[in-house]
Amino acid sequence: MRSRLPFGDPGPYLEERHRELQERVFEVARAHFEGDEEEDEAAATLGAVRALAREGLLASTVPAPFGALDLRSLAVTREAIAYFSGLADSAFAIQGLGSHPVALGGSDAQKKALLPAVAAGEAVPAFAVTEPEAGSDLASVRTQATRVGDGWRLDGLKTYISNAGIATFYTVLARSAPDSPKGLSMFLVDGQAPGLSVRPLQPMAPHPLGEVRFEGVPAQLIGAEGRGLALALQTLDTFRPTVGAAACGMAQRAMDEAVEHVRHRRQFGQPLADFQAVQMHLADMEHDVCASRLLVLHAAFTRDRGASRITREGALAKLSATEAAQRVIDRALQLHGGAGVMRGAAVERLYREVRALRIYEGATDVQKLVIARQILETKP
Ligand SMILES: Cc1cc2nc3c(=O)[nH]c(=O)nc-3n(C[C@H](O)[C@H](O)[C@H](O)COP(=O)(O)OP(=O)(O)OC[C@H]3O[C@@H](n4cnc5c(N)ncnc54)[C@H](O)[C@@H]3O)c2cc1C
Repeated sequence: MRSRLPFGDPGPYLEERHRELQERVFEVARAHFEGDEEEDEAAATLGAVRALAREGLLASTVPAPFGALDLRSLAVTREAIAYFSGLADSAFAIQGLGSHPVALGGSDAQKKALLPAVAAGEAVPAFAVTEPEAGSDLASVRTQATRVGDGWRLDGLKTYISNAGIATFYTVLARSAPDSPKGLSMFLVDGQAPGLSVRPLQPMAPHPLGEVRFEGVPAQLIGAEGRGLALALQTLDTFRPTVGAAACGMAQRAMDEAVEHVRHRRQFGQPLADFQAVQMHLADMEHDVCASRLLVLHAAFTRDRGASRITREGALAKLSATEAAQRVIDRALQLHGGAGVMRGAAVERLYREVRALRIYEGATDVQKLVIARQILETKP
């Protein structure tokens, strides 16, 4: 069946259930999130989590019992939400990103306590790995984990943490042994734990972002000691193609806004759409969006078919889709002329929203390094 949505025909990559899911998400997102640029990012994020939970749409953010995540469900959901709101997209995505270390390495008790609550929107996670001196280079994380009795305490500073201040729990990468990547472990911290404090940060597009300081904060180990970096990288590996999916949703929206505008705006006695130079722009934009969507779906499909790691596919998808989305949105804004830079124009909002996607979960240059390493290691 051909989809009624603006996302084109994804060919054999999606099953009927994915198409149905995307149609449902699209309607929910249109009803709840269209033009959603509230001042209060925290309240808007919690509202988005509640709205998605009410519709049963957070279930895909955690693996089914005894199963794996369905990456295509995550991808089609992010694409449809991001078409309407970057803030709601991140609210959805971080339910998965922040809880995934627990899904991958947590004890049965940790999984039972947290994952159903995440799927129901009753728990809100945050994924806390970045530090002022450890961004792209995660192995240099300094937040210190100290064993105290049966448990652990954390001391250190994390920065650029999505859901900082509204999270009910944090998954935190910290150093449990000196200076080697194997000295990093993953920890679980309650959002209300004593010694935890948050300083809000203000990015260019609405997003609940902050610094999180740990001063003797009680923490539980997730998985085995020394597995922290592996859990963090596997989590990023899994979610990277879905960042690409969100970028495709934003790019598609910009494309649709541009088409609508050039059909109606007349200059020199004719619609902009009749100028061949404008048509060349539309063709380039369509090419960018369609090629990126295929890389995203290919990565998600490869994972859903059973690949344990999709490092190369995920990096290609994220790199291609986020860079393409930036180009497409920039061109869409340009085609709007002055109207494109006015507050309230969808392309103006998209222009601000898309920017961070080329940076978080591995900046563009870092994706290139990952891809190059994979080529050099695997090519005969
Ligand atoms: C909106 C937003 C939300 C975020 N949410 C989270 C979150 O929830 N949890 C979390 O832990 N972090 C989060 N981050 C942090 C994000 O993951 C980091 O910003 C990102 O990994 C880059 O780290 P950095 O900012 O320290 O930049 P740096 O590591 O300083 O890199 C800056 C630039 O240097 C270049 N560069 C770096 N290393 C190399 C290299 N080896 N080779 C070539 N070039 C290189 C690249 O151009 C890169 O863009 C978020 C960031 C943003 C903007």
